Amino acid sequence: MAFEGLADRLQSTIKKITGKGKVTEQDVKEMTREVRLALLEADVNYKVVKDLIKNIKERAVGQEVMESLTPGQQVIKVVKEELTDLMGGEQSKIAVADRAPTVIMMVGLQGAGKTTTSGKLANLLRKQHNRKPLLVACDVYRPAAIQQLETLGQQLDMPVFSMGTDANPVDIAKQAMVKAKEEHHDYVIIDTAGRLHVDEELMGELQQIKTEVDPHEIYLVVDSMTGQDAVNVAESFNEQLDITGVVLTKLDGDTRGGAALSIKAVTDKPIKFAGMGEKLDELEAFHPDRMASRILG
Ligand code: GDP
Repeated sequence: MAFEGLADRLQSTIKKITGKGKVTEQDVKEMTREVRLALLEADVNYKVVKDLIKNIKERAVGQEVMESLTPGQQVIKVVKEELTDLMGGEQSKIAVADRAPTVIMMVGLQGAGKTTTSGKLANLLRKQHNRKPLLVACDVYRPAAIQQLETLGQQLDMPVFSMGTDANPVDIAKQAMVKAKEEHHDYVIIDTAGRLHVDEELMGELQQIKTEVDPHEIYLVVDSMTGQDAVNVAESFNEQLDITGVVLTKLDGDTRGGAALSIKAVTDKPIKFAGMGEKLDELEAFHPDRMASRILG
């Protein structure tokens, strides 16, 4: 699981302080030093760590006494709240269109999990919200990407709109919108092409699709195993496309988790979903508070 190393370290740090009936400034200092090291080791962005520690210190020293908690527990509560805030605070829901269909564009580097996540998201929308999504295959470059989405569509018994690999992705998106309206789909999920690295041509194409379909959401799919690189990728995509949210994939792997903890702070865009496995039902809405609880034990 993601965050295991970080969780172990933070939990052992916290244990030292939990039972304390009196927390001195020195205790807070030591605790924040250990929290800082644990976060840096988990690959959390340096600046993000710095800000977080500053907040914890300010709040942990000189906070009001709450009768129900020991001073040690209060300090931990502060750490938890700060960690929750760092990951976005409240759960961020899908921005739904006033008039259907709600259009969601999936973007990201090759291998991040876009195609799989498109299928998972369609599945989740149908299952939890009783919606009727249309999947759209706009990745005309990666061999087998269209086939992959069509196979997912068959597994889910859900329609996939494609025009083969010779068509222009902008045209595909345009035609897909016509079909979605005709057939009364309430969600359109557009799987776009990725590259191994951020590249201008790709960004140009994604911008054109964005202009054509005017999506309600643009989700950047990020592989959480890629560490700090994920943060740089998120910054680039956000600059170029003004994304509306992030999907973190492969949180079931043994990622150190730093990216997950940094992306919201760096891009100021919420993490909407987390991929927890390869299967089509392994996508979860991202809850910052639950994730913080998971990490802090
Ligand atoms: P794309 O190039 O961005 O469309 O990436 P794909 O959807 O083809 O995914 C790349 C690989 O990552 C595939 O083998 C997926 O099964 C795998 N994958 C995607 N999401 C997850 C996840 O949340 N957990 C795990 N373990 N694997 C994932």
